[in-house]
Amino acid sequence: MNALPPLAASQTRPPAARRLHVVTWGCQMNVYDSGRMADVLAPLGFGPAASAEDADMVILNTCHIREHATEKLFSELGRLRRLKEARAAAGTRMLLAVAGCVAQAEGAEILRRAPYVDIVLGPQTYHRLPEMIAEAEHGGRAVIATEFPPESKFDHLPEAAMPAGGVTAFLAIQEGCDKFCSFCVVPYTRGVEASRPAEAVLAEARALVAAGAREITLLGQNVNAWHGDAPAGGEWNLARLLRALAEIPGLLRLRYTTSHPRDMDDALIAAHGDLPMLMPFLHLPVQSGADRILAAMNRRHTGADYLRLIERLRRARPDIALSSDFIVGYPGETAAEFAATLDLVREVGFAQAYSFKYSPRPGTPAATAPGQVPEPEKEARLAALQALLAAQQQTFNASLVGRRIGVLVTGRGRHRGQIAGRSPYLQAVHLDGPESLIGHEIEVTIAAAGPRSLAGERRAANEEHAAA
Ligand code: SF4
Repeated sequence: MNALPPLAASQTRPPAARRLHVVTWGCQMNVYDSGRMADVLAPLGFGPAASAEDADMVILNTCHIREHATEKLFSELGRLRRLKEARAAAGTRMLLAVAGCVAQAEGAEILRRAPYVDIVLGPQTYHRLPEMIAEAEHGGRAVIATEFPPESKFDHLPEAAMPAGGVTAFLAIQEGCDKFCSFCVVPYTRGVEASRPAEAVLAEARALVAAGAREITLLGQNVNAWHGDAPAGGEWNLARLLRALAEIPGLLRLRYTTSHPRDMDDALIAAHGDLPMLMPFLHLPVQSGADRILAAMNRRHTGADYLRLIERLRRARPDIALSSDFIVGYPGETAAEFAATLDLVREVGFAQAYSFKYSPRPGTPAATAPGQVPEPEKEARLAALQALLAAQQQTFNASLVGRRIGVLVTGRGRHRGQIAGRSPYLQAVHLDGPESLIGHEIEVTIAAAGPRSLAGERRAANEEHAAA
C-alpha cells in the first residue's frame, strides 16, 4: 500500500456514533489485536456492536494456523456479502474489513474472490485503520495494506482501553518470529521478531492495573525472545522485565506466552523460582518427541534438550505445571517417531496441551516435503495422543482435589450466588461467593475436578486473606 495522507482534523472527530463488530479467530495475540483495533477506531465514534447485523463496520480478524482457515473466511464473507447488499439496498453502508494472518498471506486473493471487501490489512498495519477507512469511504475502492512498515505499529497505537473491572488482561510485548519452523506461517505473516521498549510495556501494565487488572499475560509469538530497550539505556531480557512488572502495586499475577524452548535462558528459569507472582504454569511447545522430526521441523532442539529444560524449571519452581503444542503426522513421521512423542508426553506429564494433525500451509517448506502421512494415519495418531493428554489433564486436575490454592476471582459464575475465577494453573474454578470478591485472590479448597474446570469451596476464614 502507498503511504496515505494524514487525516484532516475533521476526519478524526467522531462523525456520529457508529457500531463496530470484530470477529476474532485464532490465538491470544489476535484477541489482543482485535481489542487494539477497537481502541484505534474509538476516536472515530465506533462503539461495540453485538453482532454483524447491528454493525456499521465488521472486521474479520483471521488466523492462518488452523486447518481450513481460508475456506472458513470465504464462507463467512459470503454471509456478510448478503448483509452488506441488504444494507446498501436500504441506503446505508456497511464497511467490511479482513485483518490478521490470512489477510497478510492472501490479501490479493481475498480481493479477487471477494471484491466487495473494503479493506484488507495485515497484523502490522492496523494502527492505520482510520486512514484506510477514509480512503475506502471516499476513494471508492478497496484498500489493501499488507506491507511490513518500517515503523512499529506499537508506536502509533492509542493507550489500550480496558473494560472497567476486567480482572485479567493481555499485553503484547513482542511480535513476529525469526525461527522459521518449517510448518509455520508466522515469520511470513507477522514478520521478524520485534520487541516493545520496556518503558512502553511498564506504562501499559500500570494503566491496565489502574483500570482493574490483577493478572497480566504478556503476549508474543515468541515471547521469551523479548529483548527490549531498558528504561535507562541498554537492554533488558524477559526475566528483567518480569521483575520490574512484579513491582507494580496492585498487580497480583504474571504470565507469559508463547515461548520457544531455545529462548528459556538461565535468567528466565531463575525468575520462575524467585517471583511467586509469576504463575507456576508454562506453555512451552515441543511439537514432537522424535529428534529427526524436530530437525526436519527446524526446531533447533532435541527431545532430550526439552526434557532437561523441564527438569531445570522444576528444580527452580517445583510446583510448575506444563502445557505444550504437538503436531502429529508431520511429513515423513514414522510410527516409531510418533511413539517417541508419546514417550516424551509420558515422561513430562502435562497439565494441559494442544495437539493437531499436520496440515500443509502454502508457502512453508513442509508443505511440499515428501512423505506426507495419509489422513487416516494422522487421525489415528492424533486420537492416541489426545487420549493420553486428556488422561494426564484429568490426573492433574484430580491431584488438586482437597488442596487449598489461590484463586483469582474474575467474575460472576453461571448461577446466582456463584463466582468464577482462575487457578494458578489457568483452570477455571467455580465456587459460591459474593461478587465483592471479584478482583481479589482468595484461598479456595478444591472440592471436585472435571476435565476442564474445578469446583471450589471458600471458607469464611479464607476471606480474611483476600488480597486487596
Ligand atoms: S517458533 Fe513458533 S511462531 Fe516461530 S516459526 Fe516456530 S512455530 Fe512459528
